[in-house]
Amino acid sequence: MFEEELKNLEFISKEVGIPIEYTQGGGGNTSVKLNDELMAVKASGFKLKQITPGEGYVVVNFKNIVEYYNQVDLSQDRDYEKESTEFVKTNVVHMEGLKTLRPSVEAGFHSILKKYVIHTHPVYANIICCSQNGRELMDKIFGEGNIAVAWIPYINPGFCLTLRIKDAVDNCLKETNRFPQLIFMENHGLIATADDARECVELHNMANDKIKAYFGINDTYPELKLLKLDENKYASRTEYLINYFKNNKVSPDFFDRIVLYPDQLVYLNGSLAVDTMDNKLNINSETGEIVYLTNESEAQTMEETLLAYVYVIDNISRLGLPIKSMNEKEIEFIANWESEKYRKSLVKDLGK
Ligand SMILES: [Zn+2]
Repeated sequence: MFEEELKNLEFISKEVGIPIEYTQGGGGNTSVKLNDELMAVKASGFKLKQITPGEGYVVVNFKNIVEYYNQVDLSQDRDYEKESTEFVKTNVVHMEGLKTLRPSVEAGFHSILKKYVIHTHPVYANIICCSQNGRELMDKIFGEGNIAVAWIPYINPGFCLTLRIKDAVDNCLKETNRFPQLIFMENHGLIATADDARECVELHNMANDKIKAYFGINDTYPELKLLKLDENKYASRTEYLINYFKNNKVSPDFFDRIVLYPDQLVYLNGSLAVDTMDNKLNINSETGEIVYLTNESEAQTMEETLLAYVYVIDNISRLGLPIKSMNEKEIEFIANWESEKYRKSLVKDLGK
């Protein structure tokens, strides 16, 4: 059943899930609508590149989820965050031969978009998404094109983000008669959506290529190298990172000064030690050496997330753009968000 759609889901997931400049660790998610009611969406705790027709996704009744967001009455004093998460969970449809997993925390906005949805945290899109003038840059780069785009100012992920995206889609349709097929989310990442799988991948890649071209970024993305030193001990051999930390004095509050997006908080903040070896991520401020004291899966996720973070802040400062950090309230929401805790708990088992 749904053979073609599921093969396409694997295709789009690998296309954007393998390049680490698009997807770091277990970040990002993809989905396909199988018919008028059912949607296959990435499962929490899987990497995009691990999705196959037989694994890594969950089937939900997206029609009910759309209905929920169409009818939700915001005038009441209710925990909408919890309620909507529960609602998605009760709309998981068990499929013969498929393990029933927990759907991606971002299943809500997947429900309201086109047949195929790709959501990633690409370093190129995030150069504009983490700049204070990101919306202006988006308009400059994409305003003349024939693809409708939308900008979503930072909002807590989950329920609020889905509602905000729904508003943006409705407004774009009203104003331009076109469905926005690229959605830029401040301090977060990119969404591409289309009714055709190939078109969806092309849109996603085109968006990043256009940003690269606009800023004159011609170099290929730095190569990541991780070396096993011992059981639960890995050293970074990623030249770009070592050089960065050799040339830029790092302090223990490095990640707290600029918080670019939720995945940074989930995977990096609170894990850094400078010039000592008593945390998961240990940086020598003289030599730039980076050592991870954790298992391979987590070291790999942390290195990918670290490389993306440094690449984005490095480019933003090189281009002279005003950087946009998340604020304290937004940071606190993520720290206390049950769904993110769940994601974090899965990272050790993510596999390569
Ligand atoms: Zn995301």
